[in-house]
Amino acid sequence: MNTEASQSAPVHAEVLIIGAGPCGLFQVFELGLLGLSAHVVDSLQHPGGQCAELYPDKPIYDIPALPVCGAQELVDRLLKQIKPFNAGMHLGQEVCELARRDDGRFHVRTSTGTTFDAGAIVIAAGLGSFQPRRIGLEQSESFEGGAIQYRVRNAGELSGKRLVLFGGGDSALDWTLELAPRAASLALVHRRAEFRAAPASVAKMRELVAAGRMRYIEGLAQSLLVADGTLRGVRIKASDGTLHELEADRLLVFFGLHPKLGPIAEWGLELERKALKVDTEKFATNVPGIFAVGDINTYPGKKKLILSGFHEAALAAFAIQHYLYPQKKQFLQYTTTSPVMHKRLGVPDS
Ligand SMILES: Cc1cc2nc3c(=O)[nH]c(=O)nc-3n(C[C@H](O)[C@H](O)[C@H](O)COP(=O)(O)OP(=O)(O)OC[C@H]3O[C@@H](n4cnc5c(N)ncnc54)[C@H](O)[C@@H]3O)c2cc1C
Repeated sequence: MNTEASQSAPVHAEVLIIGAGPCGLFQVFELGLLGLSAHVVDSLQHPGGQCAELYPDKPIYDIPALPVCGAQELVDRLLKQIKPFNAGMHLGQEVCELARRDDGRFHVRTSTGTTFDAGAIVIAAGLGSFQPRRIGLEQSESFEGGAIQYRVRNAGELSGKRLVLFGGGDSALDWTLELAPRAASLALVHRRAEFRAAPASVAKMRELVAAGRMRYIEGLAQSLLVADGTLRGVRIKASDGTLHELEADRLLVFFGLHPKLGPIAEWGLELERKALKVDTEKFATNVPGIFAVGDINTYPGKKKLILSGFHEAALAAFAIQHYLYPQKKQFLQYTTTSPVMHKRLGVPDS
């Protein structure tokens, strides 16, 4: 797959898909079968949407012809299936602007500054883009992205700093183990005795605590310690009721992610209960050239299932082809027998 393109020139996209969940990925496939190329944007750092983010290890039992399939396994299979179509993947960036230009094409901009000039748009944004759960203390907003971080963007910058990490999942524990040897000091704070992280990581963390190389406190952040507009530390209320003032240069917060409809609500699209209204022939929204598939859409009888999203992606692909190339005759071809589709799929001649 293509990696990130230059941020200055707009990326020219035949079709731009917003969301790399299972339905966005399958949309790449259905467009590819019809000879249409796609770029995909997702705010997460990895493809897979809810399957990868919320329940990667859980089994799914209602994918046709797969009696049982792990959620991450489904994502991996989809990625393999769409590989022949070499879609541009633009991960770790939220689509924040979408506007229809006078010439009918679309201007799209992401949170990292990538811009697209796209012929058609498919919104496959599920329940919305995943956002970090925030620490929510007085004044914390003004330090976010600086002294308070929800994602480690530059681990090198944290060397020699006094760090306080929050959370009990894999991200919190992995970063604790990674950063403890190079931080000036490190404390991990988690609200309860049980961890969601891998037991081996928790055991290693406890070894570091026993060796005096870091601190661990079971408790909650109570308030920030701020002097002259600079973050100096954080006050923790431990589960046993004691208060601890931890000096810190950086607070790294790993409370997990939750989906939020976000900027989609501002693009002039007709919404019904936070979902995009579409028809069931084309899965078109009220704006010509913008289609919506998967959990983000709604229509009479809609069921938020992966299976439904796959069907929607197949029909949307035909509608998009017609939208982009109205003169082109459309044929239903079978992947079993169509030489054209074999070529697109890279199936060797038999
Ligand atoms: C615990 C659990 C179990 C489930 N089990 C099943 C099951 O057994 N069978 C079944 O059929 N379904 C199941 N589901 C539901 C299924 O996961 C969803 O129907 C499916 O994930 C929808 O896929 P999607 O591609 O539409 O959206 P999502 O998977 O939600 O993916 C949408 C993607 O769009 C991205 N995005 C959103 N807005 C933006 C933006 N502005 N910019 C960039 N990216 C954006 C998000 O980051 C996300 O990655 C389950 C769900 C959960 C939570």
